[in-house]
Amino acid sequence: MSTMAIDVQNLTIRTYPDPCLREKAAEVDPTSDEVQQVAARMIQLMHQANGAGLAAPQVGLSWRLFVTRNPDSEDGGLVWANPVVTPLESPPEPDTEGCLSLPGIEVEMTRPSRVRISAVDPSGTRFEVESGLMARVWQHEMDHLDGVLIIDRMSPMERIKNRRQIKALKKSSAS
Ligand code: ZN
Repeated sequence: MSTMAIDVQNLTIRTYPDPCLREKAAEVDPTSDEVQQVAARMIQLMHQANGAGLAAPQVGLSWRLFVTRNPDSEDGGLVWANPVVTPLESPPEPDTEGCLSLPGIEVEMTRPSRVRISAVDPSGTRFEVESGLMARVWQHEMDHLDGVLIIDRMSPMERIKNRRQIKALKKSSAS
């Protein structure tokens, strides 16, 4: 991990086509102070943006870490470090997905409806959970850790539908 100090409070959500969204992220130590501060800030940003989850590459950090909402606490969040997602025997399910890094874009995505996730929590313990409800969020955030975005998984029809918005994002970053 980089020893460069991170300005945690000034982290913001990066939007496409920020190159950080395209990197394959590296493992992190979720017990470190710095990583925990970043995770807390990410939970704050996720709530501010009304998102279901947020991955570290979306705030410019190439770490294998994401946060999601905590179903048991309204403004809390869960931290998933170095996650591994395994699809379980389940029917693939289509649903509409958006992404905080792709404002204004919605993509119909078919994903396995039930998965198992193994991740490391902030105490350094690896744990495992299975879920149908969280399956889509976990898979979406996992994609971010490998530099994959929903626009990479669009059908030709979806590509046409979102063409103008993608172009607008590219243009606004260039100015
Ligand atoms: Zn996303």
